[in-house]
Formats: sequence, structure tokens, C-alpha cells
Amino acid sequence: MKVYPSGLSLAETAALLPDQPPYRARQVYEWFSKGIASFDAMTNLPQSLRERLSGLYGGQVRSSSIEKELIDEDGSLKLQIRLRDGAAVECVLLEDIEGRKTACLSSQVGCPMGCAFCKTGTLGFLRNLGPDEIIEQFHFLRDRRGFISNVVFMGMGEPLLNLENVRKAIVVLSSPEGIGMSLRKITISTSGIIPGILDIAQSGPKIRLAISLTSAEPNLRTRLMPVNKTWPLDELKSALLQFQQATRDRITLEVVLIGNMNASETDAEALAAWITPLKAQVNLIAWNPIQGMPFEQPSPRQMRIFSEILERKGIVTVQRMSRGRGVMGACGQLGDTLQTTNPPSA
Ligand code: SAH
Ligand code: SF4
Repeated sequence: MKVYPSGLSLAETAALLPDQPPYRARQVYEWFSKGIASFDAMTNLPQSLRERLSGLYGGQVRSSSIEKELIDEDGSLKLQIRLRDGAAVECVLLEDIEGRKTACLSSQVGCPMGCAFCKTGTLGFLRNLGPDEIIEQFHFLRDRRGFISNVVFMGMGEPLLNLENVRKAIVVLSSPEGIGMSLRKITISTSGIIPGILDIAQSGPKIRLAISLTSAEPNLRTRLMPVNKTWPLDELKSALLQFQQATRDRITLEVVLIGNMNASETDAEALAAWITPLKAQVNLIAWNPIQGMPFEQPSPRQMRIFSEILERKGIVTVQRMSRGRGVMGACGQLGDTLQTTNPPSA
């Protein structure tokens, strides 16, 4: 499929214009990475070149468009984006109290992993997103909220099952000639796809890695996260140790705490024991409610006790604030507006 301008690297942009000198390709690339909405915006280019580029894309700089915008009371912005084939995804801009703006991007339409506590998991999987469709989410959010400091692949989908395109998107995000974001400001969150973790350990990019662990008890993890059947906890741990050996980087472990499910003191002890050889920080996330799911939120007291047990074992633990809940834009809630557009996969 043709890659739209925002998904192109500098070299790919240059390849669009083989007869042009390198400085022209750089000028075009700069415009593309600004996320222009029209080819006419490229004011330092000759009209003929603008027309030529426009012709390559039938006049459309972007492959997707915004269908719906929702703003939460806490300021979080959720966009529903209509893709060129009619499918839809969501992305979110979260702003913290220090004013840091984080774009939470989707990597797939739906998700094949089927985690029991996640809205996106109930949608099934339709297809992978292209690099252009990933970067367009970034541009749509930046158009509305200005400078974005961080990107997290924590929207819809399992990024390590679309690693090729996620890698291309990261090349664009981090290109010094374009968006120029430091790789340290980019996080990939995975449910634990071991081949993808090892691939990144070996070949990069040197982004931050977050693993959705949620439970260190094998049967419970399998129940909540079916990925555990294919890539079980012990193999996951050895992959993470390899990752740390290769990158010397601290990993984040995300633990979604669900009341009366994985939030007991025994669960905390088991988690601490599992983590011990790893250099990891734990992000505790209170389960964000999703209608029709047979789960409950943990109490603040349960969260505190859980966190204290980990801290006592020397594990840095952060209780993540749930932002974006009011628009179903918090972790695991994406997809509520898409029920009728993304049929669950067979
Ligand atoms: N598929 C990837 C990234 C997207 S999910 C992954 O699973 O890591 C992003 C995060 O949201 C994951 O850590 C996941 O465990 C968490 N999550 C899913 N459903 C949730 C819910 N209902 N409440 C809180 N967090 C949830
Ligand atoms: Fe997919 Fe992540 Fe949701 Fe699991 S938690 S279903 S891997 S999006």
C-alpha cells in the first residue's frame, strides 16, 4: 500500500523525487514532518513541485481524517480517526500536572490479544496500521495541543505484532531532520511478545520498554492475559533479562490492579519475588471500569498496601493516575466508540 507523506523517512521522501537535489528532499521532508494539511502549504517550493507531489497522492496529504473529538474534564483529548478503508482507531493526548504532553498512539485496528480486562481486546483484530496512519495520529493531536513531549504506544493494539511499521514510525518521530523526538521519550508497551522483545534488544530502537505483567501467578495471568499461554512468565523473565543485558535499561512493568482478582497481599508478594532479579519499576494502574465486564476497581487502601509491599522489597512503584477516564480514553478503555465499525475477528 502507498505510504502517505507523514509516514515517510527522509530517504523515502528523497526517493519520491529522484531528479531533485538533496536540499529539496530535505525541504519537503521538513514540511511533511510538520504535518501539513495541504501540499500548498509548502511555500518555499516551486509551484510545479507542489503540484507534482500533490498528483502523487491525489491531492490528499493525509490518509485519514478525524471523525470525533472528545475532551475530558481533566483536559485529556481523545480523537476517533477514520482510516482510508473505513476502519477506525483512537488516540489520546494526556497532559500531566507539570504540563508534559504525552500522545498515546494506536498501532493496530483492534487487538488480537484478548486480555480479559481491556476494552480493545473485546473488539478483535482487523489489521495493522501503516507508519503513516500511526504518525497521522501524532499530527492530529499536535495540531490541537501543540508541542508533544512524549509518545507511548499504549493505544489500541499490540505494537510488537506490528513491529515493522512501529519501527518505521519511530524512525520518523526521532528523525533529527524532522520531528526530532528523543528515543528516550518514546515507550512501547507490550503484553509480552517475546520474539519482539528480543528483536528490539538486539536491533533497537533504543526506546523505553514497558511490559504489561498484571500478575506473576501463572494461572491467573493466563486467565487475564491469554498471551501467557504462548509466552509464559518464566520465558518472559528470561527475555527481559536478555533485554537488560543488551540495553542496560530499566524496564517498566505495568500492573493493572483489579479488585478481588490480583490485588491481594499474596499477589503483591508473588509479584515482588518474580521481579527480584530484574531492574524494573512498577506502574500500578487501577483497573479502569468497562461496562459489562465482571471486574471491580481496587480500593485506594488495597492499592496502597500493594504498593508498600513492593516498595519494602526495594522495587520502585508508581501509582499511575488515570487520566482520560471521562472520555473512555484511559488505559484499556479505547474502542468504546468503535463497536459498530470494527467487527471482532473470527
Ligand atoms: N497492547 C499493549 C499496549 C496497549 S494496552 C499492552 O497491552 O501493553 C496499554 C495498557 O493498558 C496495558 O498496560 C494494559 O494492561 C492496560 N489496560 C488494559 N485494560 C485496562 C483497564 N481496563 N484498566 C487499566 N489498564 C488497562
Ligand atoms: Fe491488546 Fe493490550 Fe488490550 Fe491486551 S491490554 S487486549 S494486548 S490492547
